Amino acid sequence: MSLFVQKYGGTSVGSIERIEAVAAKVAAFREAGHDIVVAVSAMSGETNRLIALAQEIQDNPDPREMDVLVSTGEQVTIALLSMALKKRGHEARSYTGSQVRILTDQSHTKARILDIDVARMRADLDAGRVVVVAGFQGVDEEGNITTLGRGGSDTTGVALAAALKADECQIYTDVDGVYTTDPRICSGARRLEKITFEEMLEMASQGSKVLQIRSVEFAGKYNVPLRVLHSFQDGPGTLITLDEDYTDMEQPLISGIAFNRDEAKVTVAGVPDTPGVAAKILAPIGAANIEIDVIVQNVAADATTDMTFTVHRNDMEKAKKVLEKVAREIGAREVLTDDKIAKVSIVGVGMRSHAGVASKMFTALAEDNINIQMITTSEIKIAVIIEERYLELAVRSLHKAFGLDKV
Ligand code: ADP
Ligand code: ASP
Ligand code: MG
Repeated sequence: MSLFVQKYGGTSVGSIERIEAVAAKVAAFREAGHDIVVAVSAMSGETNRLIALAQEIQDNPDPREMDVLVSTGEQVTIALLSMALKKRGHEARSYTGSQVRILTDQSHTKARILDIDVARMRADLDAGRVVVVAGFQGVDEEGNITTLGRGGSDTTGVALAAALKADECQIYTDVDGVYTTDPRICSGARRLEKITFEEMLEMASQGSKVLQIRSVEFAGKYNVPLRVLHSFQDGPGTLITLDEDYTDMEQPLISGIAFNRDEAKVTVAGVPDTPGVAAKILAPIGAANIEIDVIVQNVAADATTDMTFTVHRNDMEKAKKVLEKVAREIGAREVLTDDKIAKVSIVGVGMRSHAGVASKMFTALAEDNINIQMITTSEIKIAVIIEERYLELAVRSLHKAFGLDKV
């Protein structure tokens, strides 16, 4: 008998039929003798619908009230799933984040989990009940409802598994595992048997939304056995593992390709090339709470430089305003923006022990006439910024060039 924490995503609980199917699946695990704690998302589309309602009132509504609003989606699904379990003769109890006491900090809309009180859940499990917990939400020390950021139910699942020392955290979704790249845009994508935490973290931070970044961080930190599986198809899924040893196969050069369309490029052109100028440009950006990703600086023949960096698309206009003021102060020529860009990243621990990975990547892109605008690397990742319209082509070419296509 094992203790599993199972997280079911939005599409898996997107209709009454699917909620019934999830209940049947959980019931089968119970009948096989396992203890089950379930974390559920809101029905698919619901969180977006709630956000859109708020935006009809105001562009930037108060974050505390946003959390009160968007947390309602998960409250619906915990109740419905518990009813469906009881209908099948299984005792179940639903809990909001505040009821189990998933204690978080006070950063509304992107709160971090600080502590989870397991007493109540343990008592339910001991009494033979299925515990059904609302994903994505918690409570701060003053009793305010908080949420964990988009995709946050994954983190709820992993955090519950860590707190309860579960045998495995199972993330059930609409794909049967983690693929070499998003199967929605590359038909050659393959399911991975396993992937390391480090690689999964890099894939998630470079844009693969199959797991929320924080859930992977959490699982790595507390060594939670984590598996991604299909909600309604049987199969082994993908294991996220600490083990870097690919014994049964030759270690691949790269494990996966991630991408995102969330960034925009900002250039301060004609900057006098003097010491301290980069700090003068970036400090006000930091002060305005705008995060920067890739940075490039080019020196022109006339001793001026162009400084280019990427920010989240939602921050582009704000960044432009801040920089226009800075540009006047430091005597730069102009501020340019471009939100028609995308970032494509190749990820793999295999890169550590192989030379020539970057040139292979750049050659593959050049063969398709895709211009690279910016480059950034880490030990196990190479990311490039390209024109957005070439994104899918780039992903497919790289997938093929690195031998990731199905055989
Ligand atoms: P859920 O609602 O269950 O949380 P998500 O939509 O958040 O589901 O995540 C699953 C989706 O992630 C898949 O449908 C797939 O399109 C996308 N995805 C992106 N990259 C990958 C990848 N490398 N492997 C598998 N799925 C991926
Ligand atoms: N319902 C939330 C969202 O759509 C959390 C989740 O699904 O993980 O982002
Ligand atoms: Mg998700």
